[in-house]
Amino acid sequence: MSEADILSARDVPLGGTRSMTVRRTLPQRARTLIGAWCFVDHYGPDDVTDTGGMDVAPHPHTGLQTVSWLFSGEIEHRDSLGSHAFVRPGELNLMTGGHGISHTEVSTARTTVLHGVQLWVALPDEHRHAARDFQHHAPAPVRLDGARARVFLGTLAGETSPVRTFTPLLGAELVLDPRATVTFAVDASFEHGLLIDQGRVSMADTLLDQAELGYLGPGRAALTLTNETDSAARVILLGGPPFEEEIVMWWNFIGRTHEDIAQARADWMSGTRFGEVKGYDGDPLPAPELPSVPLKPRGRVR
Ligand code: MN
Repeated sequence: MSEADILSARDVPLGGTRSMTVRRTLPQRARTLIGAWCFVDHYGPDDVTDTGGMDVAPHPHTGLQTVSWLFSGEIEHRDSLGSHAFVRPGELNLMTGGHGISHTEVSTARTTVLHGVQLWVALPDEHRHAARDFQHHAPAPVRLDGARARVFLGTLAGETSPVRTFTPLLGAELVLDPRATVTFAVDASFEHGLLIDQGRVSMADTLLDQAELGYLGPGRAALTLTNETDSAARVILLGGPPFEEEIVMWWNFIGRTHEDIAQARADWMSGTRFGEVKGYDGDPLPAPELPSVPLKPRGRVR
């Protein structure tokens, strides 16, 4: 079978009061989605004792779920549902924006090294106005031959996450033993993405370097990964059946049309729809200006 596509990261400054740069591999020109996964930001390891780390003021989301997963550090989360939670290594926090939510993310004073991923899931049209929701799950590690996995969404190696999603999804952290080759069954109807956090790992005879995202289309009943280094390698495996709808992504919103996005922006700026975050010391983030040309829907086929 064919080799994996390699999606390289670009550096994106997050802005805000503290400076932080992330490596973004999705979306990009060559690919908008992997299953319903539509956004992959990877950051750190950053020593934040001087920079202060992450401080994202109240901002809105619609039409999507956010997935926060850390390797190191701690982030305090507050949202307009009233959730107040701490994101910690190995623990999934999944927030459903649905019709509209707002939240803040601040790395805690205890944090010295901040390292993790922020992922978004596009909601299918029939559920994109779902109610706000927040779920937390700390998956027990499961042993594979040559690796250890934490399955935060979906099913892998006989382990199934209890976290509810609106489309079938796979999300797991794998730590591969030095030089190990690991083979495991996957759903053949899924396409997959493999983000390399640490080390160099081959998938489908394609060598992936640190911070790269490998992509494989559907039609495989098993994946084989090889750690090409003498140290443990850490990866994030994402999957899902191809998402057949076209979406419009802009700032923190997902819609189906330019008008959906313009409405969400207007609602945020007028202080309606997204609720209020309590307990954050600072002003909400203003939305950027809409581009002068209409936003165009994008899908898996370009
Ligand atoms: Mn957010």
